[in-house]
Amino acid sequence: MTDRYAVFGNPVAHSRSPEIHAAFAQQTVQDLSYEKIEAPLDGFEKALYEFRSQGGKGCNITLPFKHDAYTACDELSKRAQRAGAVNTILFREGDRLFGDTVFGDNTDGIGLVRDLTHNLGISLAEKRILVLGASGAARGALQPLLDEEPSALFITNRTAVKAQELAQEFHDYPENKDTDLAGGGFADIPTEPFGVIINATSASVSGEVPDIPASVIGGQSCCYDMYYAQQATAFMVWAESNHASQIHDGLGMLVEQAAASFESWRGVRPDTGPVIKQFR
Ligand code: NDP
Repeated sequence: MTDRYAVFGNPVAHSRSPEIHAAFAQQTVQDLSYEKIEAPLDGFEKALYEFRSQGGKGCNITLPFKHDAYTACDELSKRAQRAGAVNTILFREGDRLFGDTVFGDNTDGIGLVRDLTHNLGISLAEKRILVLGASGAARGALQPLLDEEPSALFITNRTAVKAQELAQEFHDYPENKDTDLAGGGFADIPTEPFGVIINATSASVSGEVPDIPASVIGGQSCCYDMYYAQQATAFMVWAESNHASQIHDGLGMLVEQAAASFESWRGVRPDTGPVIKQFR
């Protein structure tokens, strides 16, 4: 029997996940189907349980349901707990004693880190990292970035208090004690240039660039926009005009987060290189 997977969102028509998972399935010779499900805005949980009762094995979750998915799970990975959001669900078959469980994970942050470190060859250890944004994507990326042991990580956001609170929360986890972790508004960004600058705002969606000083870019800085489009994003154009040494969009992150979901469902890791190339 073909195993059934899906991505839930609203809207979801634009999602490229079915094409990516079809490419992974073909490459790894896995018998599965992957569809898009547009759940009603107030009906995620019902749609999820319907899918499960019809034999669904697992799913991805995109906007605006990542928090609903977080609350719908019986068990969460540490990554999902820290992110406060779930983008991957695995329906686990239990035994007679414990029964079935809905396990939630968040692969966005490890997708970003794998794209940076593995695909783009950028080591994060001992680097100074600047994260722009303090919403879902930034939060999901924080722990995986901190796990790479950068020397410093500054979270900056248009609404400063959100960045301060996020930095404080992650600063309080004992395993993050070796990183100089702080947050604030754009005017609070330390003046020394950063090795890696990650745009986790949604400004590029509307062709805007966060109002940060160009002095954050030094001779060796990598600028990474989580957003991706057919052409260079507004942030990438800004990075280019300020002479960043490396500039990347979030397509690799998209494929890598999908690969991590696929591996947790199927127990086999697809080779992402050819798939990133194909979607580029
Ligand atoms: P949100 O819409 O929740 O992001 C809002 C954040 O962006 C807030 O921090 C907000 O600041 C900031 N922001 C929005 N517009 C501006 C602006 N003009 N100037 C400065 N800051 C701005 O989105 P998500 O967190 O879900 O996603 C963020 C980005 O990451 C999106 O572009 C998304 O496409 C991308 N993404 C990519 C993934 C991938 O696989 N490649 C996966 C997940 C996300 P404030 O708080 O002040 O309003």
